Amino acid sequence: MKKPQKISPSSRMKTRKKEDRETVYHRISRNNAKQCDCKDCYRSRFALSKYCRVHHYRYVTYGSPDGRRIPPNEYSHEEQLVTDFLKKHVDHPAIKSAVAWFTTWLTDARDKKPVTGSSEFYWLYSKGVEGIDCLKRVLSIWLYAHNHPHRLPGDVRLDYALSNAVTGLVSRPPVGTHYVGKEKRYTYREVSIVDRREIGVRIRRTLFNLCENAVRGIEKELDKEYQMTVNLSKPFDAEETN
Ligand SMILES: [Zn+2]
Repeated sequence: MKKPQKISPSSRMKTRKKEDRETVYHRISRNNAKQCDCKDCYRSRFALSKYCRVHHYRYVTYGSPDGRRIPPNEYSHEEQLVTDFLKKHVDHPAIKSAVAWFTTWLTDARDKKPVTGSSEFYWLYSKGVEGIDCLKRVLSIWLYAHNHPHRLPGDVRLDYALSNAVTGLVSRPPVGTHYVGKEKRYTYREVSIVDRREIGVRIRRTLFNLCENAVRGIEKELDKEYQMTVNLSKPFDAEETN
């Protein structure tokens, strides 16, 4: 009787890896034959995603296949209100704590401690970003979401917007160059899918109360200003007849 051949653990692993690869390859092929899950999109699915390449990119970058980039100029009005608010309340314990929290996050990343989004915060720190800059961005996006709920519906979209706003404080680290015709263009390192989500979730969960209170505080100040304008424009005869 022939002696059964011994299979070494490493060759067994190689065989299993090959099988896994084939399985993934077949799963991708099967998935590619299906249509994107988005309404009115007839493109085929990308990799193992339930969306096509375009909608998958939006899903992992903005938290939804319908998401989009919110450029800083779109929330410049909110940023101005937040800047004025922070100047007034810089000594408030909640503001101080939030700034200190971001500062610790940045310095922990500098010290290579295992914090959420460590490589992103390391990059921000190396470019001179400070805790107050991060907080300003977060409050601006929060106020923007409050003012335009249809543009950032739900917590997930907000998480991604917060993360994108903070990591977008400085230009991304370049990783290479390529040419389009004769024009030299740089490619930049993208924030990883996991980091993008986790940074936003951590910010929202930690600063929820502060952000809600700050939005209420800003609205109260705006109401006060509005009321003053109304009072100042009241005609005297109307005041007397009432
Ligand atoms: Zn699609």
